[in-house]
Amino acid sequence: MSIYLTDKLKGLKPYVPGEQPNKNGYIKLNTNESPYPPSPKIKDMIDAAELEDLRLYSDPDLKKLISTISKYYSVNEDCVFCGNGSDEVLSFAFLAWGDKGVVYPDISYGFYEVFADLYGLIKHPIPLNKDFTIDLTKYDDLGSLIVVANPNAPTGISVSVPEIEHLLERNPESVIVIDEAYVDFGAESALPLVNKYDNLLVVRTFSKSRQLAGARLGYAFGNRELISDLNRIKFSFNPYNVNRLTAIAGAVSIEDDEWFKDCIIKTVSTRDRLTNRLRDLGFFVLESKANFVFAKHDHIEGKTLYEKLKNRGILVRHFDKARISEFNRITVGTDAETDVLIETISDILKEL
Ligand SMILES: *Cc1c(COP(=O)(O)O)cnc(C)c1O
Repeated sequence: MSIYLTDKLKGLKPYVPGEQPNKNGYIKLNTNESPYPPSPKIKDMIDAAELEDLRLYSDPDLKKLISTISKYYSVNEDCVFCGNGSDEVLSFAFLAWGDKGVVYPDISYGFYEVFADLYGLIKHPIPLNKDFTIDLTKYDDLGSLIVVANPNAPTGISVSVPEIEHLLERNPESVIVIDEAYVDFGAESALPLVNKYDNLLVVRTFSKSRQLAGARLGYAFGNRELISDLNRIKFSFNPYNVNRLTAIAGAVSIEDDEWFKDCIIKTVSTRDRLTNRLRDLGFFVLESKANFVFAKHDHIEGKTLYEKLKNRGILVRHFDKARISEFNRITVGTDAETDVLIETISDILKEL
């Protein structure tokens, strides 16, 4: 930290992302990326002319990308926003609507707390139930921004759309952000409620279900006034927030629906297989609707298992946090990666 840093940022604890080792060879099950490559059609679209066009700024209105998303999801174009990863969209949401405080589950995506601290917002983390489910009736009457990941991370547990609708009905004074980073893997989306409620923003990403984590592309659906708030911030911060190659990759990913659906089907089937095999080995595994599972074992500390797996070339995610330090979050890889993982874990358990 330099002596020049502004006082209000001196206490800020930045988000700590999962490890991204430079060395290949790890089975990487720690940051919920897709184990499958992006649609091969993206490569065909990014030709020499597109590379030459990198000398030009990207389209600040992202017309092609937004019209592709709006057609696919049957939403008006002025109800769609795109960001440099959904992290950017979420960050803009905190800045836009968080001045009366932010409510979110105490065990959830770690960035919510960081964004609140970055913008100096009052935080109201609400404890998860004992079984790690979310009770949305506890999120009422605070007049604050409400942010809920559905399915939640790192638990993978989802809430139902009727529960979200009741939350919206009870809290017309709050903007409610539903972070659907993992919704494509089987939870129910709140997207149909966007037409009915002026205070709902549904946030999505291309990082988890669309094989484009490294391209950095997130999007959101909401009432046109909410979207115009986000654009007000974007055009005061970085009008070219989505780069040219990413905008092309995003549109092609949406258009190649067969590729998208095929990758989802494979991941969901591997998730169910992984869950069963971990349970066979004696793990307690939460019921996941995401592309990861959250699991613990009575005979081994969460951190110890994380370290032993890392020593054997498998990266998973461990959180040193009260109530969840016994667990590891394991991304669903390919079937072959899952076989190696299960074999390695059973070896580790045998050695105890
Ligand atoms: C991964 C993740 C994000 C961020 O995704 P990007 O689009 O890659 O920035 C947002 N929310 C949750 C819950 C996530 O797990």
